[in-house]
Amino acid sequence: DPRISRIASAIRVIPDFPKPGILFQDITTLLLDTKAFRDTIDLFVERYKDKNISVVAGVEARGFIFGPPIALAIGAKFVPMRKPNKLPGEVISEEYSLEYGTDKMEMHVGAVKAGERALVIDDLIATGGTLCAAIKLLERVGVEVVECACVIELPELKGRDRLGDRPLFVLVNAA
Ligand code: IMP
Repeated sequence: DPRISRIASAIRVIPDFPKPGILFQDITTLLLDTKAFRDTIDLFVERYKDKNISVVAGVEARGFIFGPPIALAIGAKFVPMRKPNKLPGEVISEEYSLEYGTDKMEMHVGAVKAGERALVIDDLIATGGTLCAAIKLLERVGVEVVECACVIELPELKGRDRLGDRPLFVLVNAA
């Protein structure tokens, strides 16, 4: 698809952020390119519009940028998957491991119902730990995760392998 190369070029790569040795994929420059940003949303909408998806679950923080326009366009609700202690209502939470230590992801009780079909969206998959936590939260309450979608994949980290048999769709592969 010719739209992909424009999207790939609109992503800025910043070395040594947030720590020395890390090559940070920065999607804020993609948001500045109105055509590339629209193409990004369109590519996801084209893929998911006829898949009977009622939930788009976006992972904090950059899943909150891409998720809502996709949800509106495909007629699904948007559910934020948040960092701990941010959601005001009753939550269920899932702990997951980071490079150093652990983190938690939370979702409001009652946001989704058993039997619903969900798309999980984030900007980037690295080790896959973050998407795994989102999948677990949804599956614990009986939601079917139809697919996970990211703008960028770092294939060397093999995060895809951690998702088991849930499909992963990405637009751009990065080194
Ligand atoms: P994972 O859990 O190792 O797959 O890491 C993915 C999470 O870390 C996502 O929520 C990303 O937003 C974030 N992340 C990791 N590396 C980058 C990067 O280079 N750019 C933007 N986000 C990143």
